[in-house]
Amino acid sequence: MAGNSEVKAVFFDMDDTLVLTSKCDELAFVEVGKLATELIPGVDVAALISGFRKGMKETPWDKEHKVHVDEWRAGLWHASLVAQGAKLGDPEALMPPARKLQAEYRDVRLSHFRFLDGAEDMVRRMNESGLKTVIITNGHHEVQRQKVEACGAVGLFGAPNVLVGGEEVLAGRHEKPHPSIFAKACAAAGCVEGEAVHVGDSLKTDVQGGVNAKLAATFWVNAEGKELPEGAPAPMHVVRVVTEVEEIVRGMMAQ
Ligand SMILES: [Mg+2]
Repeated sequence: MAGNSEVKAVFFDMDDTLVLTSKCDELAFVEVGKLATELIPGVDVAALISGFRKGMKETPWDKEHKVHVDEWRAGLWHASLVAQGAKLGDPEALMPPARKLQAEYRDVRLSHFRFLDGAEDMVRRMNESGLKTVIITNGHHEVQRQKVEACGAVGLFGAPNVLVGGEEVLAGRHEKPHPSIFAKACAAAGCVEGEAVHVGDSLKTDVQGGVNAKLAATFWVNAEGKELPEGAPAPMHVVRVVTEVEEIVRGMMAQ
């Protein structure tokens, strides 16, 4: 592992690291709930959303990529409606409203998808001082690209410095926590693994990924101040919000 003074690049996760994706989801669910009430008399909105969330946790898209992600997610809304039983009517008639709920969820979520306060300025200051910055985001290629577009990530980071895990998977490579996507980030940044740090909210993909790739340091964004679960990979640094990273990296560079 290289000395800390050689930090040349900072890699960032996107969802719930640079952008508060969970907040965007909450705002989208409020609007989906309103639309569902209009479209489907008698619907239990809380159960609808909880069923959809469960489906998203299990299979957020068709892993074989045969069904488009929007149609797949419309299917998750549909399944959650059908689970409410005969009171909502013929299951087949629920598919068109399910598609509308999916479109609402996608559009409202994207309309709120912005870098959190201070994140853009931090990235600019890092770049101005010679630090390279890269986004490494896991997830469905099309969904992640829509998010990248919504927050203007390519404008801020530059196209070669925005890596989407789903695109790697489609190309037969790997997403986080595999070291290959971090190697790609290092190539984009013009550094080696021991000269880069990675920042993210997921212990399983971000912290473990940084460990697997033998980066100089990992930063865990632990917004809720959770205890580190037993057996989880240990991050080198823990922050509440991504903008706390800058000062720590500067400190590492000064050593
Ligand atoms: Mg994340």
